[in-house]
Amino acid sequence: MKESTCIFCKIAAGEIPSKTIYEDENFRVILDISPATKGHALILPKEHYANLYELPDEMAGKVMLLAKRLAAHMTEALGCDGFNLVQNNGEVAGQTVFHFHLHLIPRYQGDGNEDKICWNHLELSQEELDKIHQLLILTKLP
Ligand code: AMP
Ligand code: ZN
Repeated sequence: MKESTCIFCKIAAGEIPSKTIYEDENFRVILDISPATKGHALILPKEHYANLYELPDEMAGKVMLLAKRLAAHMTEALGCDGFNLVQNNGEVAGQTVFHFHLHLIPRYQGDGNEDKICWNHLELSQEELDKIHQLLILTKLP
């Protein structure tokens, strides 16, 4: 399904021009319009899924394989020194476009973003840690 008001649906379908670096039947990969670093790209599924929770398992597998292959290609082509995969879900997590996308971010020594992709560290008590641990233990995947 496509969403008629979704900009990434339109870009993925080729209705809005983009700097596409790769395309196949399931995905379009474009350069980010406001890149964190040189070569920052986004993997967009051609179908509309708002976020990771909506992404079907089969597509989740395909997106990670594509990211792995593209990371290798981009690293060779750009000569970058490292690589971040970033994927935001929900406003609180920094998502601004509500069509699933995976950021491919080449990293360079001295790129000025060393302190950006990070978070403050919580100081949790042993009790709080144990509580969370108990809450999250899975014996079988849902
Ligand atoms: P997020 O904050 O994870 O939702 O990321 C959205 C990303 O989409 C941002 O990095 C934006 O710069 C990028 N973006 C928004 N509109 C466009 C567009 N028309 N073409 C390319 N990238 C875009
Ligand atoms: Zn969409």
